Amino acid sequence: MTSTNAELFDRACRTIPGGVNSPVRAFRSVGGTPRFLKRASGPHVWDAEGTQYIDYVGSWGPAILGHAHPDVIRAVQEAAVDGLSFGAPTEAEIELAETLAARLPSMEQVRLVSSGTEATMSAIRLARGFTGRPKLIKFEGCYHGHADSLLVKAGSGLLTLGNPNSAGVPPEFVAHTLVLPFNDVEAVRQAFAQWGPEIACVIVEPVAGNMNLIQPAPGFLQGLREVCTEYGALLIFDEVMTGFRVGPQGVQGLTGIRPDLTTLGKVIGGGMPVGAFGGRRDVMAQIAPLGPVYQAGTLSGNPVAMAAGLATMALIGAPGFYERLAQQTNRLVEGLRERAAMAGVPFAADGIGGMFGLYFSETVPTSFAEVTAGDVGAFKTFFQACLAQGVYFAPSAFEAGFVSITHDDAVIDRTLDVAESAFRTLAQSR
Ligand SMILES: *Cc1c(COP(=O)(O)O)cnc(C)c1O
Repeated sequence: MTSTNAELFDRACRTIPGGVNSPVRAFRSVGGTPRFLKRASGPHVWDAEGTQYIDYVGSWGPAILGHAHPDVIRAVQEAAVDGLSFGAPTEAEIELAETLAARLPSMEQVRLVSSGTEATMSAIRLARGFTGRPKLIKFEGCYHGHADSLLVKAGSGLLTLGNPNSAGVPPEFVAHTLVLPFNDVEAVRQAFAQWGPEIACVIVEPVAGNMNLIQPAPGFLQGLREVCTEYGALLIFDEVMTGFRVGPQGVQGLTGIRPDLTTLGKVIGGGMPVGAFGGRRDVMAQIAPLGPVYQAGTLSGNPVAMAAGLATMALIGAPGFYERLAQQTNRLVEGLRERAAMAGVPFAADGIGGMFGLYFSETVPTSFAEVTAGDVGAFKTFFQACLAQGVYFAPSAFEAGFVSITHDDAVIDRTLDVAESAFRTLAQSR
């Protein structure tokens, strides 16, 4: 007897708050019942009822090779036989650290952790420990995991300290967090003019992927680099999403900008829980056991997770991988624009590497304010119409989408046919 998605959701809600172990999975912003997935392969996922979907969530980023790549599965199976966790160092950890350092030259030294949240939380602590300063700057709409000091929304007006945007975070815990508008380098200069000697670091998603997709304006990242250098603050690129997703060397490779610290996650674990932070050798030397900044993890560098990460890193290193990935993303993005125009729906789309954004607005947004002004109702209608026809986009208007190397022409063209009908449904509904 197979259970339906609705039955599983009811059952889940009895024991798991909201029925899910991470909030956006709950479909709250789009309505309806979350799909309980059973199996995935390449560009497809199957739910508990056996329905197949073309997947553009990709586990929220890791599944760049498509789901269940045979080489990755084999590596995991082989590693598992030798033991699941040792709590002692292994050669595989060195190999993954060396691989990351070789591909991202700014990462002179690397510490492996088990999630993106751990990576960013640790990088912030390290930046504060290294500089001896308390304050940090983050940008509105950027997500850096759920550590207390990063769960902050902008205060009223520029140059105000942030307010917690989660219950359970005392205002004192975010009193040192400044929240500024993304793509506004002038606001950053003003903040440094006021608080420069107290600012430990600027943390940024160098291509923002947690408020839909928003690309950095020309000069924005360079401006951050300059002002951080001028004031002796550290620049942290949170490439948990963009690392090995937008190109072979993340955003730092595309722009040539060298951050002091980088955080990674998602793709580097190939679907297993892996995060990493790293950067300047003199900064990393402040981490325990070398230095006074404490950081630790029972399962850090887990051997099975390392095996998945190493197999993934090897496969994405193939010549032409990112050209092919970007080509498929473009096919999707351009196709969607065309189909929306045919249906007369105000719509824009953007893509970079294996990441894309869909916007129910006339133009591609450049800030949190612009992206939140989009037509959320239109997104919901589009999302549900696509889902009903077997295309699974992220269940929120404020998430980026992900293409894998297994999204071939046939899969994308099928998606475009479904999208065309969804755009028409939307046009008729107004
Ligand atoms: C996903 C993400 C995180 C958090 O990573 P988790 O593994 O979910 O803890 C941090 N920063 C960015 C940019 C992310 O996209």
